[in-house]
Amino acid sequence: MKAGPGCRRFGVGGRVIVYHISGCGVCNDCRRGYMISCTSERYRRAYGWQRDGGMAEYLLAEEKDLIHLPDSLTYLDGAQVACGFGTVYEALEKIGIDGSHAVLITGLGPVGLAAGALCRKLGAEKIIGIDISDERRDIALRLGLCDVVLAAGPENVHEVRNLTSGNGVERAVDCSGNADARAIAIRATRKWGKMVMVGEGGTVAFNPSPDIIHEQKTIFGSWVTSTWLMEELVERLVRWNLHPEDIVTHRFSLDQVSDAYQLMASGRCGKVAVCPTAE
Ligand SMILES: [Zn+2]
Repeated sequence: MKAGPGCRRFGVGGRVIVYHISGCGVCNDCRRGYMISCTSERYRRAYGWQRDGGMAEYLLAEEKDLIHLPDSLTYLDGAQVACGFGTVYEALEKIGIDGSHAVLITGLGPVGLAAGALCRKLGAEKIIGIDISDERRDIALRLGLCDVVLAAGPENVHEVRNLTSGNGVERAVDCSGNADARAIAIRATRKWGKMVMVGEGGTVAFNPSPDIIHEQKTIFGSWVTSTWLMEELVERLVRWNLHPEDIVTHRFSLDQVSDAYQLMASGRCGKVAVCPTAE
């Protein structure tokens, strides 16, 4: 790392990770650390999108967008803290996870796998995962991120209830963005339970009275994360000895980047990493 003039905390030789959206720094959302929600049209810029950065050996970042990366975490660990483990951590903080909870995760892509890893460390009593992909269900089981995995299908609500003494789960996390999976997550949540939507796009259909109102359920939305929760997560990753790198199933060099995107689009993988240098 090199540092320009005026840096207050980080400098040459430091190890950092980047919050992937640079906000104006002075709107209410930025002041809360949620630059994802920055309201400034002029200054809100995502790295690798509206401003340069990403898929390169170096990028020019604002100091306020940086989080210290402890020595015990690799850059591949750190690269998954912003949108990935951080996004999930934020969502799990909203619904709260503890040892009395059975948790359902719909969608076992990298975000769903991260949800399993974090629920495990937060002490969830049982973690149930649903995905259409054999590969992803296998990865979730092999890495011990789910206790039970189910192939996506019309019997999923019934199956989840059977796994939870007929009650359904206390907490559900949708990481799929799929309409059927979201409806399953809502219906498989037990009375007084909480579910959170993280998967983007698409739609969902449910019947408000039987599916949420009469069962006193709460549905949350959660978008990316905040700089302060990223800092907290990094500290916990070290204390938990949890390495996001463990969900990486494939690594590519910078000149193979199109292969990396193709594999990711196929869904036949865990997390895919593009590494400019050998790590
Ligand atoms: Zn802002």
